[in-house]
Amino acid sequence: MAIPQSFIQELINRSDVVEIVGRYVQLKKGGANYMGLCPFHGEKSPSFSVSPAKQFFHCFGCGKNGNAIGFLMEHAGMSFIEAVKDLAQSYGLQVPEDDADPAERQRAQQQRQRQATLNEVLDKAGESYRKHLKTSPHAVAYLKGRGLSGEVAKQFGLGYAPDGWRNLASVFADYQDALLVESGLVITNAEDGEEEKRYDRFRDRIMFPIRNVKGECIGFGGRVLGDGTPKYLNSPETPVFSKGRELYGLFEARQALREAGYVLVTEGYMDVVALAQLGFPNAVATLGTACTTDHVQKLFRFTDSVVFSFDGDAAGRRAARKALDGALPFASDTRNVKFLFLPAEHDPDSFVRAHGTDAFARLVSDATPLSRFVMEVARDGCDIDTAEGRALLAAQAKPLWSSMPEGVLKTQLLNEFADAVGIGQHELQRLWMAVPASGKTGFSASKPQTPGAKPAASSPWARSGHKRPLPIGINLRSKAPTRRDRALQILFADMLQWETLSSHQHSLLLEMPAPHGQLLAWLNQEWLEKGVQSLAALREGLREHEHEALVSRLIDDAPPDIDSDAGELQSILAALEIEQLSQSIDDLTRRMASDPDAYARIKQLNARLASLKNGPQV
Ligand SMILES: [Zn+2]
Repeated sequence: MAIPQSFIQELINRSDVVEIVGRYVQLKKGGANYMGLCPFHGEKSPSFSVSPAKQFFHCFGCGKNGNAIGFLMEHAGMSFIEAVKDLAQSYGLQVPEDDADPAERQRAQQQRQRQATLNEVLDKAGESYRKHLKTSPHAVAYLKGRGLSGEVAKQFGLGYAPDGWRNLASVFADYQDALLVESGLVITNAEDGEEEKRYDRFRDRIMFPIRNVKGECIGFGGRVLGDGTPKYLNSPETPVFSKGRELYGLFEARQALREAGYVLVTEGYMDVVALAQLGFPNAVATLGTACTTDHVQKLFRFTDSVVFSFDGDAAGRRAARKALDGALPFASDTRNVKFLFLPAEHDPDSFVRAHGTDAFARLVSDATPLSRFVMEVARDGCDIDTAEGRALLAAQAKPLWSSMPEGVLKTQLLNEFADAVGIGQHELQRLWMAVPASGKTGFSASKPQTPGAKPAASSPWARSGHKRPLPIGINLRSKAPTRRDRALQILFADMLQWETLSSHQHSLLLEMPAPHGQLLAWLNQEWLEKGVQSLAALREGLREHEHEALVSRLIDDAPPDIDSDAGELQSILAALEIEQLSQSIDDLTRRMASDPDAYARIKQLNARLASLKNGPQV
């Protein structure tokens, strides 16, 4: 069902996020906003803020934010469609179905179609790999040698890609089909002047189908039978497969996660299958990458307890360090994160076989808690017998601590770090909060918005069919907003200010170079058509706009509780005008020889310039 964008925007315009949130959370007015206890994480003092002007909610503790629709989805557990229908009903609106802009609908349709086709192609390949396994005794022997039963092989849909360059040519009618390349099954290799070569990516390998949480095949992992290289080969990134977000075995494990009460994150698909065989069906694996915040966030949708398991070597320590970075933004008081380091000679499979399931279960329960591991990481390489070493510890601890969500755990860690550094807790906190990495004083240090902390995948901005608005890299985040950025932030967050500007000021802003000027032209158009709107409504209207990502980034960067004052916009305008005047004066100066009026004009402009530079702004 497609709901037209314009309807969503209208719905956001009509609804009141304060009223919607107020149905579930007790809110108290504090300044321009309403505050309450966050319903998304446990807390004793309110850090959950709802802005009636922006029509947004935002939690300074866990970072959750969104509009009225997002709140209903996150808190009341509604789907996007249900939330829209719920809101529409309370405002007596009829949800229009299937009459979205035809071009947009067609695009969405094509996208879905293409992904479905890729899934079909992958499924078909998987089926043929399974058939080949049945007729390949040496592959079956290999699996048996690893101690796998036929039952577990079937459960995970294991197969075998035979040796040979073009086995898939007998599976698909057209081996030249672009979909085979797009799905990553076939490699195409065309060098200059040569004829294009095509061949199967996976040859003589045990095939592990990778499924998404819906159970659709989105790619493969292939393991060599013998000593060939690479030992493990994965599908490349495709429109349906992204290593940084997918976890092997999650689909198969989802039931077991609830029963076991935790997920075990391992380093490879062989571990997952072997552990399932050995009585640990609650294991998943990353796909040849370090664990990302996206991975961790996905896992926490299924369980509150994550145990990362690593081989006990240096590579394992490095991987653990990355997993820690991925997990810290989600380490709230109600969640449990542990790190398990296996003895150097073992992987989970070999450990269970050597020592038994009970010994492994003990290893899991004795795993290092996040609080201890974060301390170990912070102390790494520090000689704490010297003041320098303790200072280094503090420096290493700060980014780790800062990326955690507010809560009791974070407060306790502050205590521990303070003890280790040898100064008081308040002193350390003051030091850490006083020099924020960027932005406003005392704000960003307590803000858990590291790049991954924003619950992007579950936020309303990331609902299906819409591209994620952010490539938010650290580089983008830490970059201080320019004057033009600030103008956009202020005017989008508080559209009323646009209304109060003079037409001269409007044109100053509209003349800013793209994309800023363009975005304000869009804002102006919205203002002319619909009047003043909340930020939430504007963001709905901006969907699919070519500069949507820029606005998203700016809004996400803007401290959500700091309402700009009119003075800031005025001084930005003055600065813009000074810039513009200086430019004009330069131009005129160059033309002075040929233009008799230039001199008089320059004098005029200089007078204006001087008044701008000296006086309080007009
Ligand atoms: Zn929260």
